[in-house]
Amino acid sequence: MLKPLLTSLLFGGALLSAPAAVAQKTYLHCGRLLDMRSDRAQPAMTLVVENGRILAVEKGYATPSGPQDQVIDLKNRTVLPGLIDCHVHLEGETSKEEYLREFTQNPADVAFGSLDHARKTLLAGFTTVRDLGGSGVNVALRNAINQGKVVGPRIFTARKAISGTGGHMDPTNGYRLDLMGVPGPADGVINSPDEARQAVREQYKRGADLIKIASTGGVLSVAKDGSAAQMTEAEIRAVVETARDLGLAVACHAHGAEGMKRAIRAGVTSIEHGTLMDDETMKLMVKNGTWYVPTITAGKSVADSAKIPNYYPALVTPKALAIGPKLQGTFGRAYKAGVKIAFGTDAAVFRHGVNALEFRYMVEAGMPPIAALRSATVSAAELLGQTANLGTLEPGKLADVVAVEGDPVQDIEAMQRVRFVMKQGTVYQNK
Ligand SMILES: [Zn+2]
Repeated sequence: MLKPLLTSLLFGGALLSAPAAVAQKTYLHCGRLLDMRSDRAQPAMTLVVENGRILAVEKGYATPSGPQDQVIDLKNRTVLPGLIDCHVHLEGETSKEEYLREFTQNPADVAFGSLDHARKTLLAGFTTVRDLGGSGVNVALRNAINQGKVVGPRIFTARKAISGTGGHMDPTNGYRLDLMGVPGPADGVINSPDEARQAVREQYKRGADLIKIASTGGVLSVAKDGSAAQMTEAEIRAVVETARDLGLAVACHAHGAEGMKRAIRAGVTSIEHGTLMDDETMKLMVKNGTWYVPTITAGKSVADSAKIPNYYPALVTPKALAIGPKLQGTFGRAYKAGVKIAFGTDAAVFRHGVNALEFRYMVEAGMPPIAALRSATVSAAELLGQTANLGTLEPGKLADVVAVEGDPVQDIEAMQRVRFVMKQGTVYQNK
């Protein structure tokens, strides 16, 4: 059974004589096309999509070649590549009960909850995301989406993030003593370079596409410190070297400068948040080509949530108030210093589906709209190592296409008016 099916897939039906074998094409008539190969929008263009990829980009509104083809009218829209959010957590979402859920939800509950998050993310125009840490359900979610069983963005997942005992990614921080146990490398908790190597290999074995570490404290963990260094440079180096051998990038959560510097020197791919980044750190990032994923939206929303009485545990509130509001200013300075920026929000820290707020905050901080759009397309694709498939609209790339109402180059708020979403040639929204 399998062999003839495979053959017809491989040859696209070319060897068959039946007319049904002619591939259906979709013609997207784009009022304004921002292909992100250039910064200039082109009026009246057609994207021709076939088998989930872009077949051609033509001037004017091209006529379909056969009756089997489909035309989609986007003449009143600006059409862009599918957006990429380089920092989300699809398993959870902020609420007053979030900390209790660890004790009440089984993995199956987490999985069902994540479906809504994934769907909202995709319909907001984010056709690809990096999931930077959860329990491992995110691996099954990725697979289910890839198999077409459920609706969501294409996921590159870090599975479970890694840090030291009591560090930001220790899953039992704040628990009662008899519940804490002694989590180890398989749970993402390491205390030596050897354990760091094991932790990376465990994540790889369990299905991770990349590695996430926390080299400093963080805001939402139930621990006192939110910014001091929490991994040694030797541990981070062991993570990076092991990940490199396995072909995995390393994303590093960091708020304090010392933890960032250790991570940058050790060769991590990206710094996430980077809140207390100093000038020296920015220079080091430029020199090493380290990416910065700012997550301004998360900074603003933790500061807002912390003002609601008892929203967070007592240890978390002061950290949220101290760190959250600083992110936008840091981002503005990093952009001006020439640090490479890839778009990321930390969705889950705020509700899923409003990821495009980040564009507004980037532009407020001094980044031109076109550069903000580049960070969520071309640059994010580069960070993912997916430039052959994602980031621009050109022949050969995956047909991940969004259309917005208005012109985002003139008014970045247009990114919150996503009206059309296509992922790999399938239309998920058209309104
Ligand atoms: Zn995060």
